[in-house]
Amino acid sequence: MSSLLKGIKLAVLGGDARELVMIPELLKLGMEVQVVGLPLENNEAVKVCATPMEAVRGAAAVLLPMPGIDNEGRIRAPLSSEALWLTPEVMAEMSPRAPLFVGVARVRLREMALAFNHKVVEIAEIDELAIYNSIPSAEGAIQMAMEELPITIHGSKSFVLGFGRTGMTLARMLAALGANTFVAARKPRDMARIYEMGYHSLTYEQLSFLIGEAEIIFNTVPSLILTEEILSKVTPGALIIDLASAPGGTDFAAAQRFGLKAILAPGLPGKVAPKTAGLMLAMIIPQLLIQELRPKAARTPRP
Ligand code: NAP
Repeated sequence: MSSLLKGIKLAVLGGDARELVMIPELLKLGMEVQVVGLPLENNEAVKVCATPMEAVRGAAAVLLPMPGIDNEGRIRAPLSSEALWLTPEVMAEMSPRAPLFVGVARVRLREMALAFNHKVVEIAEIDELAIYNSIPSAEGAIQMAMEELPITIHGSKSFVLGFGRTGMTLARMLAALGANTFVAARKPRDMARIYEMGYHSLTYEQLSFLIGEAEIIFNTVPSLILTEEILSKVTPGALIIDLASAPGGTDFAAAQRFGLKAILAPGLPGKVAPKTAGLMLAMIIPQLLIQELRPKAARTPRP
């Protein structure tokens, strides 16, 4: 892989501790980076730029932070003393057809990429990364529960809503800690797997009858699932940790009215395990670069 990426220039715009861990791994592959908004020193392979415009110039691809940009175009750059913006002028400066890698692309980014004919690759949804990321996400959610509650996870009645990549990892970790683990899902095959793994399976219809048992509720469903009606049955003192992407799957206003503690917990991998999350990025970005940058002809199988 290193020879394939040798000399390839990647622009890294903003980012946090994850990018600081990832960049040295990319340099080991012979890549060069042009960064802005990160506390790095210039050297042969690292060019520290003053602006996003300078960083994208001549780069074969552009990497934005996992949360990308907001709808005003501001790049997430918590380690930068200055605000960084992805503007149409910056997009116009990018090499033709250079792909843009980002965790999740908001409307503004999609619109600009379309206008300037750049492909956006959303990496948070790539199965492989989502499964790797589920590890720090689940650990972080459990850590929050431990900090917030006066009870142990062991012996608790812990409910996990959703049995996708995050829900499955979370259920496994909770059960390993000795929680009575209840998992809500909607596909018959998920119900069968939940049963096989030794957890209590619930349909969403059953949830409304059983939610009163819960001491900790972890939501991973990115849709309104903890409605006012369901929340009205939650026992006071129970804790809700919502991992689903904003706005989450909880009616937070109703939770507040019922006096329930409900926490929206975004971006856990970067917060609780930036080093691991950075190494995970370093595993996936080189493969994606090769996939996106190699000539189309090399991808077309011969008849
Ligand atoms: P996933 O693999 O797609 O799993 C989503 C789960 O939600 C599946 O079980 C899916 O069921 C279920 N679901 C979706 N829509 C539903 C609906 N309307 N009603 C009932 N169930 C529904 O996603 P994931 O990777 O686990 O991620 C889950 C969420 O957590 C996403 O929003 C993701 O962005 C977020 N996330 C947050 C963090 C963090 O740090 N907070 C970390 C990782 C992920 P079906 O399979 O039946 O559709």
